[in-house]
Amino acid sequence: MRAMMLEAPRQPLRAVDLPMPKPGATQVLVKVAACAVCRTDLHVMDGELPDPKLPLVPGHEIIGAIVKKGRGVQRFIVGDRVGIPWLGWTCGECEFCRGGRENLCDRAKFTGYTLDGGYAEFTVADERFCFPIPDAYSDAEAAPLLCAGLIGYRSLVKTGEAKRLGIYGFGAAAHIVAQVAKFRGCEIFAFTRRGDSEAQAFAKSLGAVWAGDSEVMPPEKLDAAIIFAPVGNLIPLALKAVTKGGTVVCGGIHMSDIPSFPYDLLWQERTLCSVANLTRRDGEEFFALAPKVPVRTTVQLFPLAEANEALTRLRAGKLQGAAVLVP
Ligand SMILES: [Zn+2]
Ligand SMILES: [Zn+2]
Repeated sequence: MRAMMLEAPRQPLRAVDLPMPKPGATQVLVKVAACAVCRTDLHVMDGELPDPKLPLVPGHEIIGAIVKKGRGVQRFIVGDRVGIPWLGWTCGECEFCRGGRENLCDRAKFTGYTLDGGYAEFTVADERFCFPIPDAYSDAEAAPLLCAGLIGYRSLVKTGEAKRLGIYGFGAAAHIVAQVAKFRGCEIFAFTRRGDSEAQAFAKSLGAVWAGDSEVMPPEKLDAAIIFAPVGNLIPLALKAVTKGGTVVCGGIHMSDIPSFPYDLLWQERTLCSVANLTRRDGEEFFALAPKVPVRTTVQLFPLAEANEALTRLRAGKLQGAAVLVP
Protein backbone atom coordinates (compact mmCIF):
# COMPACT_ATOMS: atom_id res chain seq x y z
CA MET A 1 0.00 0.00 0.00
CA ARG A 2 1.36 3.37 -0.95
CA ALA A 3 0.69 6.34 1.21
CA MET A 4 2.23 9.74 1.39
CA MET A 5 3.47 10.27 4.93
CA LEU A 6 4.35 13.57 6.53
CA GLU A 7 7.30 12.02 8.30
CA ALA A 8 8.22 9.50 5.72
CA PRO A 9 10.95 7.24 7.14
CA ARG A 10 8.84 4.16 7.63
CA GLN A 11 8.72 0.94 5.66
CA PRO A 12 6.04 0.88 2.97
CA LEU A 13 2.97 -0.90 4.31
CA ARG A 14 2.17 -4.33 2.92
CA ALA A 15 -1.36 -5.47 2.26
CA VAL A 16 -1.37 -7.60 5.41
CA ASP A 17 -0.70 -4.46 7.44
CA LEU A 18 -3.95 -2.81 6.36
CA PRO A 19 -5.76 -1.61 9.45
CA MET A 20 -8.94 -3.65 9.86
CA PRO A 21 -12.07 -2.43 11.59
CA LYS A 22 -12.45 -4.05 15.00
CA PRO A 23 -15.47 -6.34 15.44
CA GLY A 24 -18.43 -4.26 16.48
CA ALA A 25 -16.73 -1.06 15.54
CA THR A 26 -18.33 1.58 13.39
CA GLN A 27 -15.27 1.81 11.20
CA VAL A 28 -15.07 1.12 7.50
CA LEU A 29 -12.03 0.30 5.41
CA VAL A 30 -12.18 2.36 2.23
CA LYS A 31 -10.31 1.93 -1.03
CA VAL A 32 -9.47 5.51 -1.99
CA ALA A 33 -10.61 6.53 -5.47
CA ALA A 34 -9.79 10.23 -5.20
CA CYS A 35 -8.56 12.68 -2.57
CA ALA A 36 -8.59 16.43 -3.13
CA VAL A 37 -5.79 18.68 -1.95
CA CYS A 38 -6.70 21.44 0.49
CA ARG A 39 -4.91 24.54 1.75
CA THR A 40 -5.22 23.01 5.23
CA ASP A 41 -2.90 20.19 4.12
CA LEU A 42 -0.22 22.85 3.62
CA HIS A 43 -0.89 24.34 7.06
CA VAL A 44 -0.54 20.87 8.62
CA MET A 45 2.67 20.13 6.73
CA ASP A 46 4.13 23.55 7.55
CA GLY A 47 3.53 22.90 11.26
CA GLU A 48 1.08 25.80 11.55
CA LEU A 49 -1.53 23.68 13.33
CA PRO A 50 -0.77 22.28 16.79
CA ASP A 51 -0.35 18.60 17.70
CA PRO A 52 -0.86 16.67 14.46
CA LYS A 53 -0.71 12.88 14.58
CA LEU A 54 2.81 11.91 13.49
CA PRO A 55 3.66 10.17 11.30
CA LEU A 56 0.59 11.28 9.41
CA VAL A 57 -1.12 10.51 6.13
CA PRO A 58 -2.64 13.87 5.08
CA GLY A 59 -5.84 14.37 3.07
CA HIS A 60 -9.42 15.02 4.16
CA GLU A 61 -11.47 15.21 0.96
CA ILE A 62 -11.71 11.52 0.24
CA ILE A 63 -13.96 9.55 -2.09
CA GLY A 64 -13.75 5.77 -2.07
CA ALA A 65 -15.55 2.47 -1.89
CA ILE A 66 -16.04 0.43 1.28
CA VAL A 67 -14.13 -2.85 1.07
CA LYS A 68 -14.59 -4.02 4.65
CA LYS A 69 -16.72 -2.92 7.58
CA GLY A 70 -16.99 -3.33 11.29
CA ARG A 71 -19.91 -5.17 12.83
CA GLY A 72 -21.42 -1.99 14.17
CA VAL A 73 -21.68 -0.41 10.73
CA GLN A 74 -25.34 0.21 9.91
CA ARG A 75 -25.55 2.91 7.26
CA PHE A 76 -23.43 1.37 4.52
CA ILE A 77 -22.66 -1.98 2.94
CA VAL A 78 -19.48 -3.23 1.31
CA GLY A 79 -19.18 -1.67 -2.15
CA ASP A 80 -20.91 1.60 -1.23
CA ARG A 81 -19.27 4.80 -2.33
CA VAL A 82 -18.66 7.23 0.51
CA GLY A 83 -17.11 10.63 1.11
CA ILE A 84 -14.83 11.10 4.10
CA PRO A 85 -14.60 14.71 5.35
CA TRP A 86 -12.36 16.65 7.73
CA LEU A 87 -14.55 15.94 10.77
CA GLY A 88 -13.59 12.36 11.61
CA TRP A 89 -14.94 11.81 15.10
CA THR A 90 -16.68 13.70 17.90
CA CYS A 91 -17.34 12.76 21.53
CA GLY A 92 -21.12 13.27 21.50
CA GLU A 93 -20.95 14.28 25.16
CA CYS A 94 -19.44 17.74 25.52
CA GLU A 95 -21.59 20.87 25.66
CA PHE A 96 -20.83 21.65 22.01
CA CYS A 97 -21.82 18.19 20.77
CA ARG A 98 -25.00 18.25 22.83
CA GLY A 99 -25.81 21.75 21.59
CA GLY A 100 -25.70 20.85 17.90
CA ARG A 101 -22.27 22.40 17.43
CA GLU A 102 -20.16 19.28 17.04
CA ASN A 103 -17.81 21.27 14.80
CA LEU A 104 -16.50 22.77 18.05
CA CYS A 105 -16.29 19.47 19.98
CA ASP A 106 -13.64 19.58 22.70
CA ARG A 107 -12.29 16.17 21.72
CA ALA A 108 -12.97 16.15 17.96
CA LYS A 109 -10.63 14.23 15.68
CA PHE A 110 -9.87 15.40 12.18
CA THR A 111 -9.09 13.39 9.07
CA GLY A 112 -5.61 14.03 7.69
CA TYR A 113 -4.60 15.92 10.85
CA THR A 114 -5.23 13.93 14.03
CA LEU A 115 -6.38 10.84 12.08
CA ASP A 116 -4.72 9.35 9.00
CA GLY A 117 -6.27 10.61 5.79
CA GLY A 118 -6.57 9.99 2.11
CA TYR A 119 -3.18 10.55 0.46
CA ALA A 120 -3.12 6.78 0.27
CA GLU A 121 -4.62 3.79 -1.50
CA PHE A 122 -6.69 2.74 1.54
CA THR A 123 -7.95 4.54 4.61
CA VAL A 124 -10.14 3.85 7.63
CA ALA A 125 -13.03 6.06 8.69
CA ASP A 126 -15.91 6.04 11.16
CA GLU A 127 -19.06 5.45 9.11
CA ARG A 128 -21.04 7.84 11.28
CA PHE A 129 -19.03 10.73 9.82
CA CYS A 130 -19.03 9.57 6.18
CA PHE A 131 -21.46 10.88 3.58
CA PRO A 132 -23.21 9.11 0.70
CA ILE A 133 -22.18 10.94 -2.50
CA PRO A 134 -24.75 11.98 -5.15
CA ASP A 135 -24.51 9.82 -8.29
CA ALA A 136 -24.22 12.90 -10.50
CA TYR A 137 -20.55 13.26 -9.53
CA SER A 138 -17.55 11.24 -10.60
CA ASP A 139 -15.07 10.36 -7.85
CA ALA A 140 -12.64 13.13 -8.81
CA GLU A 141 -15.39 15.75 -9.24
CA ALA A 142 -16.87 14.87 -5.87
CA ALA A 143 -13.65 14.98 -3.84
CA PRO A 144 -13.39 18.79 -3.52
CA LEU A 145 -16.96 18.92 -2.24
CA LEU A 146 -15.78 17.23 0.98
CA CYS A 147 -13.98 20.31 2.33
CA ALA A 148 -13.88 23.14 -0.18
CA GLY A 149 -17.59 22.54 -0.68
CA LEU A 150 -18.60 21.91 2.92
CA ILE A 151 -16.55 24.64 4.58
CA GLY A 152 -17.47 26.98 1.77
CA TYR A 153 -21.13 26.20 2.33
CA ARG A 154 -20.86 26.78 6.09
CA SER A 155 -19.12 30.10 5.37
CA LEU A 156 -21.85 31.10 2.95
CA VAL A 157 -24.59 30.31 5.48
CA LYS A 158 -22.85 32.70 7.91
CA THR A 159 -23.33 35.54 5.43
CA GLY A 160 -27.09 35.34 5.97
CA GLU A 161 -29.21 37.12 3.40
CA ALA A 162 -26.34 38.96 1.71
CA LYS A 163 -27.03 39.85 -1.93
CA ARG A 164 -23.69 41.40 -2.91
CA LEU A 165 -21.06 38.91 -1.79
CA GLY A 166 -17.30 39.40 -1.93
CA ILE A 167 -15.00 36.38 -2.07
CA TYR A 168 -11.32 36.89 -1.27
CA GLY A 169 -9.06 34.18 -2.66
CA PHE A 170 -10.55 32.45 -5.66
CA GLY A 171 -9.42 28.85 -5.25
CA ALA A 172 -11.13 25.54 -4.63
CA ALA A 173 -13.62 26.69 -1.99
CA ALA A 174 -14.47 29.92 -3.79
CA HIS A 175 -15.18 28.25 -7.10
CA ILE A 176 -17.80 26.05 -5.40
CA VAL A 177 -19.29 28.75 -3.15
CA ALA A 178 -19.65 31.13 -6.08
CA GLN A 179 -21.95 28.66 -7.82
CA VAL A 180 -24.10 28.07 -4.74
CA ALA A 181 -24.26 31.80 -3.97
CA LYS A 182 -25.29 32.62 -7.53
CA PHE A 183 -27.97 29.94 -7.29
CA ARG A 184 -29.23 31.73 -4.17
CA GLY A 185 -29.45 34.99 -6.09
CA CYS A 186 -26.20 36.64 -4.93
CA GLU A 187 -23.97 38.86 -7.04
CA ILE A 188 -20.38 37.70 -6.72
CA PHE A 189 -17.41 40.05 -6.43
CA ALA A 190 -14.16 38.08 -6.71
CA PHE A 191 -10.88 39.28 -5.22
CA THR A 192 -7.58 37.65 -6.16
CA ARG A 193 -3.84 38.12 -5.73
CA ARG A 194 -2.69 41.31 -7.45
CA GLY A 195 -2.63 40.92 -11.21
CA ASP A 196 -3.87 37.33 -11.24
CA SER A 197 -5.84 37.80 -14.43
CA GLU A 198 -6.27 34.04 -14.88
CA ALA A 199 -8.06 33.66 -11.54
CA GLN A 200 -10.12 36.77 -12.29
CA ALA A 201 -11.17 35.35 -15.66
CA PHE A 202 -11.96 32.04 -13.96
CA ALA A 203 -14.18 33.84 -11.44
CA LYS A 204 -16.03 35.63 -14.23
CA SER A 205 -16.52 32.35 -16.08
CA LEU A 206 -18.34 31.13 -12.97
CA GLY A 207 -20.65 34.13 -13.00
CA ALA A 208 -18.85 36.78 -10.92
CA VAL A 209 -20.16 40.23 -11.85
CA TRP A 210 -16.82 41.80 -10.97
CA ALA A 211 -13.30 40.49 -10.40
CA GLY A 212 -10.23 42.44 -9.33
CA ASP A 213 -7.17 42.68 -7.11
CA SER A 214 -7.78 42.27 -3.39
CA GLU A 215 -6.35 45.72 -2.58
CA VAL A 216 -8.95 47.38 -4.82
CA MET A 217 -12.35 48.51 -3.51
CA PRO A 218 -15.30 46.99 -5.38
CA PRO A 219 -17.48 49.27 -7.53
CA GLU A 220 -20.25 49.12 -4.89
CA LYS A 221 -20.41 48.30 -1.18
CA LEU A 222 -20.84 44.61 -0.38
CA ASP A 223 -23.35 43.07 2.05
CA ALA A 224 -20.87 40.41 3.11
CA ALA A 225 -17.49 38.96 2.28
CA ILE A 226 -15.86 35.58 2.75
CA ILE A 227 -12.08 35.38 3.06
CA PHE A 228 -10.59 32.06 1.95
CA ALA A 229 -7.01 33.28 1.42
CA PRO A 230 -4.90 32.77 4.59
CA VAL A 231 -3.86 36.42 4.65
CA GLY A 232 -4.65 38.55 7.72
CA ASN A 233 -4.15 41.77 5.72
CA LEU A 234 -7.38 41.01 3.92
CA ILE A 235 -9.52 41.50 7.03
CA PRO A 236 -9.31 45.32 7.16
CA LEU A 237 -9.71 45.44 3.38
CA ALA A 238 -12.84 43.27 3.49
CA LEU A 239 -14.31 45.26 6.42
CA LYS A 240 -13.77 48.40 4.36
CA ALA A 241 -15.54 46.84 1.38
CA VAL A 242 -18.70 45.83 3.27
CA THR A 243 -21.55 48.18 4.00
CA LYS A 244 -23.03 49.03 7.42
CA GLY A 245 -24.28 45.92 9.19
CA GLY A 246 -22.21 43.75 6.86
CA THR A 247 -20.43 40.53 7.74
CA VAL A 248 -16.91 39.34 7.06
CA VAL A 249 -16.45 35.57 7.41
CA CYS A 250 -12.99 34.01 7.65
CA GLY A 251 -13.26 30.56 6.11
CA GLY A 252 -9.71 29.29 6.69
CA ILE A 253 -8.23 27.34 9.57
CA HIS A 254 -5.12 29.51 9.73
CA MET A 255 -4.25 33.07 8.79
CA SER A 256 -1.23 35.30 9.01
CA ASP A 257 -1.53 37.96 11.74
CA ILE A 258 -4.16 40.62 11.32
CA PRO A 259 -2.73 44.14 11.19
CA SER A 260 -4.23 46.72 13.54
CA PHE A 261 -6.97 48.82 12.01
CA PRO A 262 -9.16 51.75 13.05
CA TYR A 263 -12.35 50.91 14.91
CA ASP A 264 -14.21 52.80 12.20
CA LEU A 265 -13.88 49.74 9.96
CA LEU A 266 -15.84 47.59 12.42
CA TRP A 267 -18.19 50.32 13.69
CA GLN A 268 -21.76 50.50 12.38
CA GLU A 269 -22.55 46.92 13.36
CA ARG A 270 -20.19 45.19 11.01
CA THR A 271 -19.50 41.61 12.11
CA LEU A 272 -16.26 39.69 11.84
CA CYS A 273 -16.33 35.93 12.47
CA SER A 274 -14.56 32.69 11.63
CA VAL A 275 -15.83 29.31 10.50
CA ALA A 276 -14.43 26.21 12.14
CA ASN A 277 -14.74 22.69 10.74
CA LEU A 278 -18.17 21.32 9.82
CA THR A 279 -21.09 19.47 11.31
CA ARG A 280 -22.70 16.40 9.81
CA ARG A 281 -25.78 18.50 9.29
CA ASP A 282 -23.81 20.87 7.04
CA GLY A 283 -22.92 17.83 4.96
CA GLU A 284 -26.49 16.60 4.70
CA GLU A 285 -27.69 20.05 3.62
CA PHE A 286 -24.86 20.63 1.19
CA PHE A 287 -25.00 17.23 -0.54
CA ALA A 288 -28.75 17.68 -1.00
CA LEU A 289 -28.21 21.13 -2.49
CA ALA A 290 -25.13 20.58 -4.68
CA PRO A 291 -26.79 18.51 -7.44
CA LYS A 292 -29.68 21.00 -7.60
CA VAL A 293 -27.45 24.00 -8.36
CA PRO A 294 -25.80 21.99 -9.93
CA VAL A 295 -22.35 22.60 -8.50
CA ARG A 296 -19.67 21.67 -11.02
CA THR A 297 -16.13 21.32 -9.80
CA THR A 298 -13.03 22.15 -11.84
CA VAL A 299 -10.34 19.62 -10.99
CA GLN A 300 -6.75 18.96 -11.98
CA LEU A 301 -5.78 15.33 -11.53
CA PHE A 302 -2.44 14.18 -10.17
CA PRO A 303 -1.23 10.63 -9.54
CA LEU A 304 -0.75 9.97 -5.82
CA ALA A 305 3.03 9.90 -6.33
CA GLU A 306 2.86 13.56 -7.43
CA ALA A 307 1.19 14.80 -4.25
CA ASN A 308 4.10 17.14 -3.56
CA GLU A 309 3.80 18.71 -7.00
CA ALA A 310 0.08 19.33 -6.40
CA LEU A 311 0.88 20.95 -3.03
CA THR A 312 3.60 23.11 -4.59
CA ARG A 313 1.20 24.38 -7.23
CA LEU A 314 -1.44 25.10 -4.59
CA ARG A 315 1.09 27.09 -2.55
CA ALA A 316 2.09 29.09 -5.62
CA GLY A 317 -1.53 29.80 -6.55
CA LYS A 318 -1.02 27.91 -9.82
CA LEU A 319 -4.17 25.79 -9.76
CA GLN A 320 -7.56 26.50 -11.22
CA GLY A 321 -10.20 24.91 -9.05
CA ALA A 322 -8.94 21.98 -7.00
CA ALA A 323 -6.10 19.49 -7.28
CA VAL A 324 -7.23 15.89 -6.86
CA LEU A 325 -4.93 12.94 -6.19
CA VAL A 326 -5.86 9.66 -7.83
CA PRO A 327 -4.13 6.54 -6.51
ZN1 LIG B 1 -17.89 16.72 21.86
ZN1 LIG C 1 -9.81 21.32 3.81
